Amino acid sequence: MARVLAVANQKGGVAKTTSVSSLGAALTELGQRVLLVDLDPQACLTFSLGLDPDALELSVHDVLLGRLSAGLVVLPTADGSDLLPATIELAGCEAMLLSRTGREHVLRLALAEIVDDYDFVLIDCPPSLGVLTINGLTAADEVIVPLQCETLSHRGVGQLLDTVHDVRRLTNPRLRVRGVLPTLFDGRTAHSRAVLADVAARYDIHVLEPPVARSVRFAEAPGTGRSILTTAGRSKGALAYREHARAIAGLDPAAVSAVGGSALLV
Ligand code: ADP
Ligand code: MG
Repeated sequence: MARVLAVANQKGGVAKTTSVSSLGAALTELGQRVLLVDLDPQACLTFSLGLDPDALELSVHDVLLGRLSAGLVVLPTADGSDLLPATIELAGCEAMLLSRTGREHVLRLALAEIVDDYDFVLIDCPPSLGVLTINGLTAADEVIVPLQCETLSHRGVGQLLDTVHDVRRLTNPRLRVRGVLPTLFDGRTAHSRAVLADVAARYDIHVLEPPVARSVRFAEAPGTGRSILTTAGRSKGALAYREHARAIAGLDPAAVSAVGGSALLV
């Protein structure tokens, strides 16, 4: 039975999609079977993994509306993870789900048919706290909150945690907050650290180490259809995501060398 992680923050541009594709690739390197779910109508995850959302006939939209089972829609990607892709059709899904009973559970139920084929499912949530994100959180065991460390970032975290509490109370009591993942991190200023310390204290939330530094290598990756683990595998950003993947998989460095070889330890 797979462990399901949602990556959520209602703010756009905080590296949700980048974190999903990078963690997915890093977990795949560790020998884990990974399914990525694109829950954003902008379909950036689908695009960045080398698929053209405009050319796809079937997508997560058909699955959420109960037209197709998830297994029929999942596609392999060059990075090695499988993907439940999105298209712009997903934008209309939110409105269609609103009139449905049990609308918060449709993703969880759809994934139930295929989760046994995977060790991890990573869900890329859209930049909103609407019914799609609620579906992601309802299907998840844990949520990771990417955070760009700048003034007022904490406000979004508060709103997201309120939503997490609602989800726990109403649709998914087992949901756990894994922590805040500092992204687009600028280690040269004390400001980023100060923002992180403030968020950790204010919300009693775990800050996941190490931060993922801001780097131009990330901007280049999506256009190639591969994650940064392939395009810049030895960059600091790739190493940071590998560390997070090891922690998620529960592997210490010694165990990793047994699984994936010493190349993963650099
Ligand atoms: P979200 O899914 O939260 O909207 P994205 O993952 O799409 O955010 O990232 C937004 C932009 O920031 C993208 O252009 C991405 O390539 C870039 N980006 C992500 N992480 C980094 C990083 N560590 N350094 C520099 N650019 C990054
Ligand atoms: Mg995104």
